Amino acid sequence: MSLPEAIRHPGKPRRWGGAPRMVHMELSDRYGRVAQDLRVSLTDRCNLRCSYCMPAEGLEWLPDESVLSDDEIVRLIDIGVRMLGIREVRFTGGEPLVRRGLVDIVARTKALSPTPDVSMTTNALGLTRTAQALADAGLDRINVSLDSIRPESFHEVTRRNRLPDVLSGLEAARRAGLGPIKINAVLLRGLNDEQAPELLRWAIAEGYELRFIEQMPLDAQHGWSRAEMITADEIFTSLEKEFLLEPASEPRGSAPAELFLVDGGPATVGVIASVTRPFCGDCDRVRLTADGQIRNCLFAREESDLRAALRAGATDEELAARWVRAMATKRAGHGIDDPTFLQPDRPMSAIGG
Ligand code: SAM
Ligand code: SF4
Repeated sequence: MSLPEAIRHPGKPRRWGGAPRMVHMELSDRYGRVAQDLRVSLTDRCNLRCSYCMPAEGLEWLPDESVLSDDEIVRLIDIGVRMLGIREVRFTGGEPLVRRGLVDIVARTKALSPTPDVSMTTNALGLTRTAQALADAGLDRINVSLDSIRPESFHEVTRRNRLPDVLSGLEAARRAGLGPIKINAVLLRGLNDEQAPELLRWAIAEGYELRFIEQMPLDAQHGWSRAEMITADEIFTSLEKEFLLEPASEPRGSAPAELFLVDGGPATVGVIASVTRPFCGDCDRVRLTADGQIRNCLFAREESDLRAALRAGATDEELAARWVRAMATKRAGHGIDDPTFLQPDRPMSAIGG
């Protein structure tokens, strides 16, 4: 196999955060975007059943043999970090806390050179037991998904009665120093859409950074509807009844959340308006699914199979070249508003949010 020019003649060493790194290639696409933020799904399994993500009965899980082993995951992350310019690694799922080797995977990722920033998105169930071990392994931060602090609404959204476990998981994360802790909330019409101010009041009192995420068409049941989703504008209207919101001055960069100072600050609230104000032009993300597929977009309809190549004995250079090629086809935008939009075959839980 002939290698791209960039691998045969690697560029000059770069400095990020003081660490020297030899970047052989970049994960760039034809629109000039460069992916540096890797989302790694560790499993498609989950112990909640959030209605915007999974059906009540769950899904047919990936067979064990198709899920990457701990060694395979760390090898692919190493290729991303060492050869392809990945600077941030976020573990997600499904629910990453249900993956047995999680603490070890975090420790091995944090030991890579150059050291990436390592974070996790989680529902926090079980975090009471593992928060300290994760912090000791080098996990930098967590985002916790929590859509309501009312037990009955929590149960309605997630179909499980586990709010106390989430709240104690959050406490444990705070004690372990896994902050600043961000809370991700999705609002659903007629269910928790009246609770935005209440969630914000609670988050500010607890010292968590709240971000609302517009619901996207990524549920397994294909129940999403543009007319039914709660828009960013509706979220602002609801919050502005109780709070003064002003745009935060710091530049947004590739971060998906638009940040607002609450009542003059320093507290902030974020809104991730993926549907009504897409930020695809600034996207710097790439995803690795639990079964070893590279997805260049949440809404991609094609994937690139790194697992098959890896298990067939591909070298690091060959895997890197395959990964680079997968990025080249990244589309300009997700196209949710196009009449031709097709929801991806995989639901959010199997992609890694
Ligand atoms: N289980 C973990 C959790 O819930 O944080 C990690 C995986 S979950 C798929 C990652 C994030 O995706 C969560 O914050 C969740 O709220 C969000 N999410 C799931 N389905 C979504 C949808 N249809 N639209 C918007 N966000 C969604
Ligand atoms: Fe599980 Fe996260 Fe999906 Fe909820 S959003 S069902 S916690 S994977």
